[in-house]
Amino acid sequence: QKPKEKKANTAQIDTKGITVKKADDLSAWYQQMIAKGEFISYYDISGCYILEPSSMHIWETIKSFFTSKIETLGVEPCYYPVFISKANLEKEKAHIDGFAAEVAWVTLGGKSKLEEPIAVRPTSETAMYKDFSDKIQSHRDLPLKRNQWNNVVRWEFKNPMPFLRTREFLWQEGHTAHLTEKEASIEVLQILDYYTAVYEELLACPVVKGRKTKNEQFPGAEYTTTIEGFITSTGRGIQAATSHCLGQHFANMYNIKVEDPAPRKEGEVAEKLPVWQNSWGLTTRSIGVMMLTHGDDKGAVIPPRVARIQAIVIPVGITAKTTPEDKEKLLDEVYNIVATLKRAGIRVDKDARDYYGAGWKFANWELKGVPLRIELGPKDLASGVVMTARRDTNDKAAIPIADLASGVPKLLETIQSDMLARAQKEYDEHRIVVKKWEEIVPVINKKNVVLIPHCEDGDCADAVKDETAKQGETDGQAEDEKAPSMGAKALCIPFDQAYGDLPELCLRPSCGKKATKWIQFGRSY
Ligand code: AMP
Repeated sequence: QKPKEKKANTAQIDTKGITVKKADDLSAWYQQMIAKGEFISYYDISGCYILEPSSMHIWETIKSFFTSKIETLGVEPCYYPVFISKANLEKEKAHIDGFAAEVAWVTLGGKSKLEEPIAVRPTSETAMYKDFSDKIQSHRDLPLKRNQWNNVVRWEFKNPMPFLRTREFLWQEGHTAHLTEKEASIEVLQILDYYTAVYEELLACPVVKGRKTKNEQFPGAEYTTTIEGFITSTGRGIQAATSHCLGQHFANMYNIKVEDPAPRKEGEVAEKLPVWQNSWGLTTRSIGVMMLTHGDDKGAVIPPRVARIQAIVIPVGITAKTTPEDKEKLLDEVYNIVATLKRAGIRVDKDARDYYGAGWKFANWELKGVPLRIELGPKDLASGVVMTARRDTNDKAAIPIADLASGVPKLLETIQSDMLARAQKEYDEHRIVVKKWEEIVPVINKKNVVLIPHCEDGDCADAVKDETAKQGETDGQAEDEKAPSMGAKALCIPFDQAYGDLPELCLRPSCGKKATKWIQFGRSY
């Protein structure tokens, strides 16, 4: 039996589509795309947004993909409270120095003032590690590997941007403790590979793997590894996810120590070893990177692997002249096609609403970013085919109805890999090797990031940012109008260093130290 069609509340639907072009005003375009495409609804607290089902589907997909990966490493799920006591939060000095400006505090319980304010977690190192010190009593308790999917609050003062920079965001945070540095450092990179897979295999967004410079690393970390994404429209880099080796700093502060298991002579007292710790996080920012990368003037373009609806079947060509029998036949076949595709594992829906014309429906599903449209008209039915239209390229092709169960999954996979290949090409074309200091600003003004020979010193990297910001202010040639005075920040020291022979000296003229690595610099989010 056919399910009853639900009448849409037409009053609530904005039929206009997106009124700004991506190339003309990225920020206005982005806000319209995510709101009109029903990914986000706005909320009355700045920096906080409502995540709609299409967004949550993407997040849930990331969640199950990443969970299946970390399970193979023996990471276990857990949940720690959202509140952190002041004493615990302030234990690791470098950590709290880095986060102090963004911590939200609870000071009242109802009407009464709390004796001591309580922090809302900006990240959970300080919430978890007191407990780690209770749980880890011996080397036999190692490794301890935990992960939680939760929300955190960072009271950011930079301009909020849905998904990319929000005051509350969803993420996973992994926290592990190991006996040896080696074990910890292997895991840091395994996680970075999984993050890369989330971006490249699910979201079709290329990233560059590398390490952060000293001054850009996580507060309290020994070192931070990162995957750096790129937003072509603005030519800015974005920190896509980070995996930190915390070294033994937190273990010393929170007294997470075990007796050295190495054999010892009789009577000799075993040394107490602080454990080696890692923490790693990936947030809902990833959804924003994907939306910015693939969206176009018609709206969102969602990669098939994360799309809540992968294919939409739309009956077309029904006119006043179509007989009720022919219409019935056509609609029956639409239902059959949906059933066939569901059996083939496709997330598919139909749009048989007869109070909207086909053109309006096409535009509406394009706005929502559904990867594939499948049209069936009376003539198609007569010849036993459907017409498909790809959201990413608008390419149209006929597929025999008899081949849908194999043809559609194949086409969706082609869309997925084409989307990554296109984005990869754009990123590659916008990573420019620069060997002359005075070329940095003109090159980043053309919406690129640069690879320059550098000494790796954190302060020198900061100086590059300050000095290029000053040049940018006077240059006036920036194509990204929103970034006139933004300097080139150290984004990452790529692991892959195949950019040709490294020049002798650090590119910053007043540095004078030897160049040790090619470092990726650029404007960033
Ligand atoms: P962190 O714990 O500081 O290393 O942050 C982990 C990841 O969170 C970073 O690599 C960013 O990709 C992401 N991130 C940082 N701040 C925000 C924010 N305000 N909103 C969304 N994602 C964020």
